[in-house]
Amino acid sequence: MGYKNIVILGSTGSIGINTLKVIDRFPERFRVVGLTAYNNYKLLEKQVKKYSPRFVAVGPKGWSYLKKNLNTRKVKLLNVEESIEDIVSDRSADIIVIGIRGSAALRPFLKALQCAKTVATANKEAIVIAGDILMRASRKYKAPIIPVDSEQSAIFQCLEGRKRQALNKVYLTASGGSLLDVPQSKFDGLTVKEILAHPRWRMGKKITIDSATLMNKGFEVIEAKWLFGLKMEDIQVIIHPQAIIHSMVEFVDGSILAQLGITDMCLPIQYALTYPERLPSRSKQIDFVALKNLTFREPNYDKFPALSLAIYAGRKGGTFPAVLNAADEEAVEAFLARKISFTQIYKVVEKIVIKHRSVDSSSLNTILDADQWARQEARKIIG
Ligand code: MG
Repeated sequence: MGYKNIVILGSTGSIGINTLKVIDRFPERFRVVGLTAYNNYKLLEKQVKKYSPRFVAVGPKGWSYLKKNLNTRKVKLLNVEESIEDIVSDRSADIIVIGIRGSAALRPFLKALQCAKTVATANKEAIVIAGDILMRASRKYKAPIIPVDSEQSAIFQCLEGRKRQALNKVYLTASGGSLLDVPQSKFDGLTVKEILAHPRWRMGKKITIDSATLMNKGFEVIEAKWLFGLKMEDIQVIIHPQAIIHSMVEFVDGSILAQLGITDMCLPIQYALTYPERLPSRSKQIDFVALKNLTFREPNYDKFPALSLAIYAGRKGGTFPAVLNAADEEAVEAFLARKISFTQIYKVVEKIVIKHRSVDSSSLNTILDADQWARQEARKIIG
């Protein structure tokens, strides 16, 4: 059995680090051929020394440091801003793991598909804003997109080998984030640190804030729509605080399949890398008796209006999802920089979505223009 050659975009982030943990378990199956990071060049240096990839790309901050400290006869050092598309299109690469966040993933994602690579994506923003373009490229170049996000991986696993016509609906589960049981009136009294304390998943800051507003779940509805060819109304969000069921699929006969597992990102990452095979993992097993209950409730759309806004943007389609995503990225960044309060995140994004006049989203340029417009609007409002 041959190697699969892996490129990891964003190797120093939480997805990248967990991907390398999975690779460590199966040295006979995977070889790291490319690593990229933006700022964390010290960790990137360690990773390069351990995995000896053929390529490494870093942001401007780490360039001269790595130039000095890596053996550049063995590893080709590149500028991540200029060369990320060259890395994903390199002939040696089989699977591109996208662990970078935001719309920055869009171009390398599309390039990887155009080069018929398998794309294991944890990035949802690219699919949210340009799902149509990416899914068309995936079909045209026969380049599979395998989701790494736990919910999408669950749906992917439940649908495996089944006829799409037999599908009735999808239940997208949400743990509810750090504010599930906090009264709305208390939101702005919490510190950034308190809101960043997600009860179930340890993830990057941006996605943890998006989980607290439920914007993340809204993005996932749009993402699922594209990944699995669904209608927005076929996807029902359900709050499931234990986060044991990662999503469910209902068939036309009323039968439901669910995918369950502990909350460990290594599980969906491993599945994406080994698909369609399954290999043993080191993760803990679920103790159902200790768990006792799995509970479910309706999302509170008044308390978490970002979820409704995302669904609205998803239904409107066009460039609305791109605007939603860009405005949210700017607003969350401003919140993390303590420039706006938590509840202002939603207010900023809502204002921009309402103001937007959508255009046809079939070209990358119109999407990126809408993205830029929304960012400028956000900066105007935030000041
Ligand atoms: Mg998720």
